Amino acid sequence: MNFPLNILEFQRRFSTENACWNYLRRVRWPKGFICPYDNTQSVGFTRTRGVWQCQKGHQISVTTDTVMHASHIALQKWFWAAYLVSTQKTGLSAWNLAKQIGVHYETAYMMLQRLRAGMVCPERQKIFGVVELDEAFVSAGRMRTAKRPGRGRGTRKPIVVCAVQSKGRTAGQIRIRRIQSTTAENLERFACDYIAKSSTIVTDGLPSYSGLSRLGFRHVVRRGPSSVEIAKKLPHVHRAFSNLNLPSATTTEATCFEPSRSFLG
Ligand SMILES: [Zn+2]
Repeated sequence: MNFPLNILEFQRRFSTENACWNYLRRVRWPKGFICPYDNTQSVGFTRTRGVWQCQKGHQISVTTDTVMHASHIALQKWFWAAYLVSTQKTGLSAWNLAKQIGVHYETAYMMLQRLRAGMVCPERQKIFGVVELDEAFVSAGRMRTAKRPGRGRGTRKPIVVCAVQSKGRTAGQIRIRRIQSTTAENLERFACDYIAKSSTIVTDGLPSYSGLSRLGFRHVVRRGPSSVEIAKKLPHVHRAFSNLNLPSATTTEATCFEPSRSFLG
């Protein structure tokens, strides 16, 4: 089920608490309720509390065990927060979120922490189709793209390589890995581990990527007069760099993200 990334469609689809609730129910249990703890079915549903009881007695709601777990924040506010996090080109600040959805700073901060953690989940399937690939190093608490040749090499700053499935204007799944250096060997191994052959990989002109077509990928190189211009031609991977949870991204072997998953983390 698609999570709308168009503001008008979003507004129309999630205009009530009930609509949000129904969306979560359908995403979580497309074939009917299953207890997340023991996989048993429902023996009863309390409409007023929106709670299922499983065969072993667990009381489960649509938000149980998700980023919204026991939060008492309106679902609509969570939905707007997830929307803003997944669509803003630059990282969303807690102050900004607080202002936009009308909650206290502390609440917004907690929501951002939870949503960003929810964006990261272990999954080893290969992504496919059109995939943007780029590398960045972590400096002063932010991810910065390592554009100039040699930059990031031989430095002790953590480097991450990130692949994002491009679905036109929206992003699909993400794979990310920490690497020691931006050598062809490291970048090619990452591509082979997490991107299906026959995919189209879009990168900048870093020479380390030049062997990708030899490995069976279709390789498209984006060039431009400056790193800013090149970044515009790789929009999804650059948005991922500004939105991803930094500590997770630099320590996790492989992660994935889809907007609808950010709820179900
Ligand atoms: Zn149960």
